[in-house]
Amino acid sequence: MARYLTRHDAVAMDRADDLAGLRGEFFLPEGVIYLDGNSLGALPKATAPRLIDVIEQEWGHGLIRSWNVHGWVDLPLQAGAAIAQFVGADSDEVVVTDSISVNIFKLLVAALRLRPGRTVVVSELDNFPSDLYMVQGLADLLQGRVQLRVVRRDQLAQAIDENVAVVMLSHVDFRTGELHDMATWTAVTHQAGSIALWDVAHSVGVVPIELHACDVDFAVGCGYKFLNGGPGAPSFVYAARRLHEDLQQPLWGWFGHAAPFQFGLGYNPAPGIARFQVGTPPVLSLAALASGVEVLARVGVERLRAKSMALTDLFIRLMEQECAGLGFELASPLAPERRGSHVAYRHAQAHPIAQALIARDIIPDFRAPDLLRFGLAPAYLRFIEVWDAVTCLREIVDDRLWDNDEYRRRHKVT
Ligand SMILES: *Cc1c(COP(=O)(O)O)cnc(C)c1O
Repeated sequence: MARYLTRHDAVAMDRADDLAGLRGEFFLPEGVIYLDGNSLGALPKATAPRLIDVIEQEWGHGLIRSWNVHGWVDLPLQAGAAIAQFVGADSDEVVVTDSISVNIFKLLVAALRLRPGRTVVVSELDNFPSDLYMVQGLADLLQGRVQLRVVRRDQLAQAIDENVAVVMLSHVDFRTGELHDMATWTAVTHQAGSIALWDVAHSVGVVPIELHACDVDFAVGCGYKFLNGGPGAPSFVYAARRLHEDLQQPLWGWFGHAAPFQFGLGYNPAPGIARFQVGTPPVLSLAALASGVEVLARVGVERLRAKSMALTDLFIRLMEQECAGLGFELASPLAPERRGSHVAYRHAQAHPIAQALIARDIIPDFRAPDLLRFGLAPAYLRFIEVWDAVTCLREIVDDRLWDNDEYRRRHKVT
C-alpha cells in the first residue's frame, strides 16, 4: 500500500526539483493552475520582447529587406534544425511549415508515390480525427487510388499487409495519453514494405523521440503544444534523409521551389526537406516558436521526461487517494513509461466539472463525450499545483459544485 500523501510531500517534491527554476522563464498568470500545456503551451517570457523586436525593428524599420538582412527566409529550416534535437533527427531532416493536417496530406501523397502499387492507408480508430479526415479527403479526391483502413489497436498487426502504402499512427494518444511503441510498430510497418508516418504532436518536447533509431520514414509534430510556440504556431515535418531524393509532395508552392525568385514557369523542387514548404512562411509565428524551443533546449528533453513522469505519477496517486469513489475512471495507462505528459479520466459529469475547475482558475480540458484531460507540462508546472488541483477537484465533486447551468453550456472550443 502506498504511503498517504500530504501537501507537505508536494512541497518537498518542488524543493527537490532540479527543473523548478525553469518556471521563471514563463509568464503564468497569478493564481492560475495551468493543466492544458498539451493543448496550448504557456508563454515564455522571452517571446514577447522577441516578437516586439521582430515587429518594430525587422518589420517596421527593415521592411522587406529583412527577408535577407534578418534571415526571415531561413526561419523554417532553422526552427526545424532546432526541433531536430528533440526528435532524434539530423538538422537537415526537419522543416517548420503549415499545420499538421496540411503536412499529413503532403506526406500521404509522398508515401503513395513511393509505393505506387499500394492503395491502403492504415490508422487507428482512436487517432486524432483531423489526421483521419485528411486521408478521407485524399481518398475522395483520388477516387480509388487510396483507401483508409482504420482499426483498433489490437487489430493493427493484422491490418498491415502487402496492400498497405502507409501506416499512420500517433505517438501519444490525444485522449488517453497512451504512448505507442514507435520502434516496434515502425519495424512491423517495414516488414510489410510500408511507409511509417508518425504524429508526435503530444510527445515532442516531453518524451524523448528517436526517429533515426526507430528508422521512421516520416513524422509530423505540433508547434503550439509542449513546444510553447503560441496559438497557431506552424507544425514541423520530418522525412528521413534516405528518402529525400525521391520525395514528391503535391503542393507545388514557390517556397518549395529550388529557385523561387527566378519566377520560372515550371516547378523544380528544392533539394531535401526544404521542398515541403509551400507558401510564404509566417515570420511572427516562427519567431515565437523558435523562442519556445530555445527555452526547452536549455534543459533537454530527458530531464523534462523525468519530471513529467513524476508529475503524472503524483496526479494519479492523489486521484486514488482523494477522489476514489467519486465516479472517476482512469483512462490513461498506470505505468508512467507507457504514457505521455497528460492523464485523462472519464466521468459522467466531465464537462461541467471541467467548467467548475476553470471557474476556480484551474484549467484542464474536456474531450467529448466524457473525458477530462490534465496536461502536466514539466517545464513550468509545480508539484504543489497538482496537489491543489486534485483537492479542488475532490471538493467540486464532493459538494456537487459542478451542478450549475452555467457549467453545462458548451463553448465553440473545448
Ligand atoms: C494537436 C494535434 C494536431 C493538430 O493539427 P493541426 O492541423 O496542426 O491543427 C494533429 N494531430 C494530433 C495528434 C494532435 O494532437
